[in-house]
Amino acid sequence: MKAIAVFPKKPNSMHLAELPEPRLEDVPNGRGVRVKVLRVGVDGTDKEINAGEYGAAPPGYDFLVTGHESFGRVLEVGPNVTGLQVGDYVVATVRRPGHSIYDLIGTYDMTTDDVYYEHGINLLHGFLTEQYVDDPEYIVKVPAGLKDVGVLLEPCSVIEKGIAQAYEIQRRLRVWRPRRAAVLGAGSVGLLATMGLRLRGIEVVTLARTPPPTMHSKLVEDIGAHYISTKQTSLADAAKEHGPFDIIFEATGYAPLAFEAMEILGKDGVLILSSVTGGDTKVEVPADRINLGFVLGNKVMVGTVNANREYFEMGVRDFAMAEASYPGWLGRLLTNKVDGLDNYAEMIRLLTEDNEAIKVYVAVAADT
Ligand code: BGC
Ligand code: ZN
Repeated sequence: MKAIAVFPKKPNSMHLAELPEPRLEDVPNGRGVRVKVLRVGVDGTDKEINAGEYGAAPPGYDFLVTGHESFGRVLEVGPNVTGLQVGDYVVATVRRPGHSIYDLIGTYDMTTDDVYYEHGINLLHGFLTEQYVDDPEYIVKVPAGLKDVGVLLEPCSVIEKGIAQAYEIQRRLRVWRPRRAAVLGAGSVGLLATMGLRLRGIEVVTLARTPPPTMHSKLVEDIGAHYISTKQTSLADAAKEHGPFDIIFEATGYAPLAFEAMEILGKDGVLILSSVTGGDTKVEVPADRINLGFVLGNKVMVGTVNANREYFEMGVRDFAMAEASYPGWLGRLLTNKVDGLDNYAEMIRLLTEDNEAIKVYVAVAADT
């Protein structure tokens, strides 16, 4: 079967590769689930992999099949599979367990191992192919009523984890009732974070570079959040006008903003960092001021990466809430569709050149 692959660490090496069809028996003990891939989304991580900055091939291969934001339909299940049936819509989680204590208890997103295994990213083939077989532990069911937006579940799982971790940490405050949040970035992760926070009843200000009106600013405003262009208003001024912020969710991909966010975070506030920055940017920061603010303000900062199935399940519930609260909004994030695996060049072009695109995805197969 066909697959879209790269030669890791070699820039612009996207090509069509050939993989053997997976078999149910590839997963032992009758626990295999065979899934037909319907759609796969791409993001900044795929951009970095295509640029040769990130990613590693599975042992024994010189190529890595890419694609970690999957959506598919179950074709076949082994005799010892419960909870999933032929015809179910599903999304696969990305990381697979390593060896740390966190991996062993199902929280592989919290691994302390240096080597981590991620489908389509690191040491495991991804989902930009026709089928995959996996254990039901790593496959999350999506209700048929959400099938049109299911391909957004993996990126949503990442913001769900960030927000859930923030609430978990803030239990230290006993009566934490966050009222105001700032989201930095209005790409797909920033928009989904805005959604997740709005669904929890929080006033949200989403900051991005481009002055409004843009498709992004309209999406922000259509769910009752406030859009601010950082070309027109500085982060500090936005905090004066709309803060103090109990939560800041950083999702710009530009690390220096994390330090600006530390400065404007409200007392007892939590800063969530989600940008995977492979570069080597250096900046000068007002270290004393930031440190003093953290100490005197009892602030916390948390990094967040990946997500285990618990956060995918939270994402499913938020998608249902979002469709009920803001009908059609999620679907508007799916801006650019690429037809079939053969069109991988168009996929990469949209991903790297179209700055307006929110979510580029490949329609791998029809849902028949
Ligand atoms: C993926 C995560 C992954 C991270 C780091 C992100 O794009 O969505 O699942 O853990 O990259 O590799
Ligand atoms: Zn991703």
